[in-house]
Amino acid sequence: KEKLELVTQKIRPFPDFPSKGILFRDICPLLKDPEALTAAIDLFEEHVREAYPQVQQIVGLDARGFLFGPLLAQRLGVGFALVRKKGKLPGPTVSVAYTLEYGKAEVEIQADAVDPGQKVLLVDDLLATGGTLFAACELMKKQKAEVLGCLVVIELRDLNGLERLKPNSVFSLVQY
Ligand code: 5GP
Repeated sequence: KEKLELVTQKIRPFPDFPSKGILFRDICPLLKDPEALTAAIDLFEEHVREAYPQVQQIVGLDARGFLFGPLLAQRLGVGFALVRKKGKLPGPTVSVAYTLEYGKAEVEIQADAVDPGQKVLLVDDLLATGGTLFAACELMKKQKAEVLGCLVVIELRDLNGLERLKPNSVFSLVQY
């Protein structure tokens, strides 16, 4: 509970970013505060040890999933893999296209980043519509990795991301 309070206090709302009408949840103050960041990773670690002790790999989403994922992977003694926006990764890759509110995007992973049958957890900073995590789940499916679940710092409830990601489960620290 105290740890959760430390995390919650360090999430800063920005109205009208990146466009009018959007309330952006900024996690930079959380990264700036070592105690709060430790608390966030503690909470993730506690949940994973309890719910997913069999996890073999953490998979982080571009870009803010890269801030939390490796810290958690180190705690758990497992590796980390990157899901990136298209065109950033060298060598053989696998990609999945998905639709955004305006337009389309593609996420990509190196073909050997996860192994068939590997039990993975996906990590990002925030769940909104779930489109990004859904695409990452599709990538995992293509690579025959087993998605145990998704972890996010923040869940925006109004946007029904949980529904979009079913039957995969999502664990969040803070909900709005
Ligand atoms: P979704 O695909 O679930 O609609 O959007 C989630 C993605 O957009 C995440 O990768 C997240 O980093 C980014 N995102 C959308 N809105 C916000 C926000 O208010 N704050 C932060 N930190 N990220 C956001």
